[in-house]
Amino acid sequence: MRLADGSLRTMSDACRQSPDWAATRVWDLPPVDPEDGEDFETYLRRIGFDDVRLSYVQRGFAGAAGEAMRNLDAGVAVEALRDHSTGRNDWRILDGYNRLHESWASGLDIRLNTVVERIEWDAEGVRVFAADGQPFEADRAVITLPLGVLRSNRVTFSPELPAEKREAIDRLRVAPVIKLVYRFAAPVLPEGVMALYSALNPCMWWSPSVGQPTGEYVLTAFVTADRARELLALSEAGALERGVETLRAELGRPDLKPVEARMVNWVDDPYALGGYSVTPPGAREAHEALARPVSNRLFWAGEATAGPLWKATVHGAYASGCRAAAEILSALKENEEYKRSVIS
Ligand SMILES: Cc1cc2nc3c(=O)[nH]c(=O)nc-3n(C[C@H](O)[C@H](O)[C@H](O)COP(=O)(O)OP(=O)(O)OC[C@H]3O[C@@H](n4cnc5c(N)ncnc54)[C@H](O)[C@@H]3O)c2cc1C
Repeated sequence: MRLADGSLRTMSDACRQSPDWAATRVWDLPPVDPEDGEDFETYLRRIGFDDVRLSYVQRGFAGAAGEAMRNLDAGVAVEALRDHSTGRNDWRILDGYNRLHESWASGLDIRLNTVVERIEWDAEGVRVFAADGQPFEADRAVITLPLGVLRSNRVTFSPELPAEKREAIDRLRVAPVIKLVYRFAAPVLPEGVMALYSALNPCMWWSPSVGQPTGEYVLTAFVTADRARELLALSEAGALERGVETLRAELGRPDLKPVEARMVNWVDDPYALGGYSVTPPGAREAHEALARPVSNRLFWAGEATAGPLWKATVHGAYASGCRAAAEILSALKENEEYKRSVIS
């Protein structure tokens, strides 16, 4: 981040030195509640945010939420800003998220590269059909397909899902999310600086090389909402070039050139079809409706089912899986109790 004196500093330096820094923070909102179905931009304007401050909200909080402020439910956004149930800090797992998956998956029969095309369900159970023709049968199934895939109807349900479930899928939205990843021959950000926030596109940059003893220097740009749409319209080469132009302008280094670059595009990935779920104005209840079991056969997990506050996160996806497992155990228990009461 560039300060008034032209130097690049850490966030805490910036807080101390720049009187404008307060404009970039939205966390201390006044105790004014949003109206039902109000969008976040309308709410923020109503409580006095000007265009400058709104641009910071878009680059920060709304950017992470994945959509333009006008496409976010204000009630959910404000509650998320006030909620500290997962702590106040973000943490990065230096060894990568795989370390978590590996321990959770140990000993389980997991079939990779098995694309599900059709799910049949009835009073007897569930039959899942993969693209290679393999059928899988079970009494119950937990559906963890990403919201983007559910919305696309690439996986069909027979019979069709109940209207309430389909409506929930349609009401929620999926954020356009991409990353631009660059490898440089030498560090690009000044020593001790891990992240860079820009008014240009992309606006949010950080280096995953910090803390990694690999000798490589990688810089990542995380891009969502209208900024992602703008870059996607340029194609991969154009988007990557725009990213380098932003870095050159921000760092004052017109000669800057990466050794290697690539774009990671979740929007066009057929097994994601978007980044993560977004709660549009008025759609708060849709998360709960999406999570609700269907006829004691189809159970639902995945980030979009984790509720409006924990959606779009790994911990939300994990918690939703625990919730779905508990729902099945409870259904089995009820079944057992029912059987016992009939026999006795
Ligand atoms: C760029 C980016 C950055 C993020 N940063 C963070 C962060 O810092 N912190 C955080 O907590 N969260 C972050 N998230 C969100 C987090 O990654 C997700 O919320 C979480 O991974 C969702 O888990 P899930 O199990 O619901 O879905 P997924 O992880 O998407 O799993 C769904 C699985 O279904 C598979 N699948 C899809 N279609 C089919 C099919 N037809 N047949 C069989 N399998 C299929 C997919 O291949 C995938 O493996 C980020 C997301 C993105 C995109």
